[in-house]
Amino acid sequence: MSVIVLVEHTEGNIKKKSFEAVQYAAGIAQKTGTTVSAVVLGTLSNSEMESLGQYGAQKVLHVADARLDELHARAYTSALLAAAQKEGSKIIIALHDINGRAVAPRLSAKLKAGLVAGALSYPDLDNGFVIKKAVFSGKAFAFVNITSDVKVITLMPNTFQLNKVEGKATIEKLDVSFGDKDFGIKVKEVNKIKGEIPLADAQLVVSGGRGMKGPENWGLIESLAKELGAGTACSRPVADAHWRPHHEHVGQTGGTVRPNLYIAVGISGAIQHLAGVNGSKTIVVINKDPEAPFFKAANYGVVGDAMEILPRLTEAVKNFKQ
Ligand code: FAD
Repeated sequence: MSVIVLVEHTEGNIKKKSFEAVQYAAGIAQKTGTTVSAVVLGTLSNSEMESLGQYGAQKVLHVADARLDELHARAYTSALLAAAQKEGSKIIIALHDINGRAVAPRLSAKLKAGLVAGALSYPDLDNGFVIKKAVFSGKAFAFVNITSDVKVITLMPNTFQLNKVEGKATIEKLDVSFGDKDFGIKVKEVNKIKGEIPLADAQLVVSGGRGMKGPENWGLIESLAKELGAGTACSRPVADAHWRPHHEHVGQTGGTVRPNLYIAVGISGAIQHLAGVNGSKTIVVINKDPEAPFFKAANYGVVGDAMEILPRLTEAVKNFKQ
């Protein structure tokens, strides 16, 4: 019996947030006296898979079917079900991201398992199997007890610090017989974003809102981000207006970031925006309105015009680095 964890990879590398999921699975395995079997779907080198041992996986179950290089929610679900059955697993973990959100509810329904989506803690086993998660767009926390025999959890990325340990996972091939329906959705084209720091992995994020007035001013955001080595993000209206691509939109209906530093420029701080960023370690808000709600969530605030402040801040960062 082992804890199963879905591992994501891109361009031959395991995603950082998946190391975190494996480490989380290892923590639960330790608490429950079991081991960790990481499930890798698609094409990945043995050395990458073995490296999962450095985050606590004893074993990798590799479903080496190249069709799984892209997300196919049904096929992923079938593969995880096969892995769970093989291992006799009672706990299945994925990330609270696009892949995990597509797969976990399906697994939960198939296995009649309780699901905690967006876990922020290890389970408290003294009181059942109680996990903390954010509710009402991060305004409150719920402590959810999963009482079913089988349990499915999606972990909120960037919740825990990574701690590498010594270890090398062993690799086992897992053959899964997929049905036609598993690949019912055809991926026609994949547009990869080149040269940007992936938001989910960014430790520093500079984010712009409608206060930036228009796409023509985004050079100011990008210059600061470049000097800091930060990723760039935006509020939803900015993405809706096509000032920025949709993958940069953070919040309740967008991505979640939990960087060390989140700099919000010209963003009012609506609850739906905060839902995606309020796990950031330090929040700096630049807004010309001293009453902007975002200041309540900020560690540091600058009241003023972004068009004046951003160039000065970028210059200051440049000088600081010299
Ligand atoms: P605004 O609210 O227009 O705020 C602009 C800010 O810029 C103001 O505070 C203003 O004082 C400041 N400003 C103006 N000019 C300057 C200047 N020159 N210098 C400095 N500051 C300046 N929003 C999200 O972001 N993410 C989501 O996921 C999301 N999901 C939603 C889901 C639902 C169901 C709903 C109903 C809404 C959702 N929203 C989401 C929208 C959200 O409610 C807000 O409308 C949105 O976040 C506001 O974006 P904003 O702060 O960029 O714009």
